[in-house]
Amino acid sequence: MFSFWEKQQYLSKYDVLIIGSGFTGLSAGITLLKSKPALRVGIVESALIGTLASSRNAGFMCYGSASELGKDLQSLSSTTMLQIIRNKHKGMKLLLQFAGKRGIQFKKVTAYEILQPKAAATLTASNHYQELNKLFSDAIGIPQYFTPAHKAHFTKGFQDTLAFAYEGQLNPAATVFQLTQLFRNLGGIHLNATTALSLEKSEGHFVVPTSLGNLQAQQVIIATNAFTSNLLPSSQIQPKRAQVLITSPMAKLPYVGNFHMDFGYVYFRNVGNRLLLGGARNTDFETENTATPALNQHIQKVLDTLLHELLPDQKIKIEERWAGIMGFDEHNSPQVRLIDSNLLLIAGMNGMGTALGPALGYEAANKLLSDRFPGHKPMRISAFL
Ligand SMILES: Cc1cc2nc3c(=O)[nH]c(=O)nc-3n(C[C@H](O)[C@H](O)[C@H](O)COP(=O)(O)OP(=O)(O)OC[C@H]3O[C@@H](n4cnc5c(N)ncnc54)[C@H](O)[C@@H]3O)c2cc1C
Repeated sequence: MFSFWEKQQYLSKYDVLIIGSGFTGLSAGITLLKSKPALRVGIVESALIGTLASSRNAGFMCYGSASELGKDLQSLSSTTMLQIIRNKHKGMKLLLQFAGKRGIQFKKVTAYEILQPKAAATLTASNHYQELNKLFSDAIGIPQYFTPAHKAHFTKGFQDTLAFAYEGQLNPAATVFQLTQLFRNLGGIHLNATTALSLEKSEGHFVVPTSLGNLQAQQVIIATNAFTSNLLPSSQIQPKRAQVLITSPMAKLPYVGNFHMDFGYVYFRNVGNRLLLGGARNTDFETENTATPALNQHIQKVLDTLLHELLPDQKIKIEERWAGIMGFDEHNSPQVRLIDSNLLLIAGMNGMGTALGPALGYEAANKLLSDRFPGHKPMRISAFL
């Protein structure tokens, strides 16, 4: 039972309702309210706290490693690759503009790719390394994005590396918190522990039955990432699980910055003087095609073994292990899709949503605003990386 006041505050009709409160949905909501403060904008999020990906990720703000992007070059056109790199660049700036560097513990860092023999051979044989540098130069004006680097302290077998200087580290939960605060401060209604059960259209507006009751909205943005097919079965967005562990603080940590391996499937970074290590989904693809956020013991063993290879002769204590769920589009084509008039889907971040989510959230919000307010001009993106 809700009071008259509560119904008016939370359940009365929204101009725009956003389903999903990760980097994508929050960035869409913030863009809407910064552009048109009088709009009534709501966000519903199933999770009690945080999200199923944004607040539990590894905190890399990145474009991807050379071997990972080199693999993408085999299936994507250079126009699509240029667009993805530009969107990542735009999303990084938007995230910093919205969330602020200090509140999310942002650090600009150098990143390294540790090239194992297979990845090194692929990059050299197909000349992808130069091709990628040209793409970065054309897309965002950085001439030599990937450069060879030699790090003497890497353990045996991991000597061949590339360096790239334009990555960032952030605290993912603090970022979701800051974005949520901003959305609320701008007048947005944010409802945690509220699941959208379905989506119906009636008399020109949407009715969204939720665990709180029916919500109505003129326009809807679906930003539910891995769980999109629950609302839109035809979307073909597949859930894939990712797992991470973090050590206790170490007396001597030889790794500072972001590190990528194995075509992007494995990644690690320092968090102060702890080491965070994640990935290895490629060692058990079948099991990881799931929306259940649980640990896979096989993958945790793979991560443990690598951790000891990376930190030989050190006493290591693992403090936490966790899993989250990513949303994959089979064509690796993250995009804003028009599902119906006034209904947009933002999906298919394929595990790279820290940068892509804000860019696509911004794009979706501007699409809705252009439909509603002819002549609308998108707000300026002003942050520097
Ligand atoms: C362990 C892990 C590590 C990662 N590391 C990185 C990284 O370092 N860098 C990077 O760029 N990316 C990383 N990613 C991927 C990145 O986190 C995602 O691409 C990004 O967070 C997607 O943001 P989103 O807002 O689209 O989705 P989400 O953050 O998943 O938000 C969508 C939300 O929608 C909610 N939802 C779903 N269905 C409903 C419904 N019916 N009603 C209400 N709410 C609903 C979900 O609860 C979810 O919280 C990682 C992912 C994981 C899991």
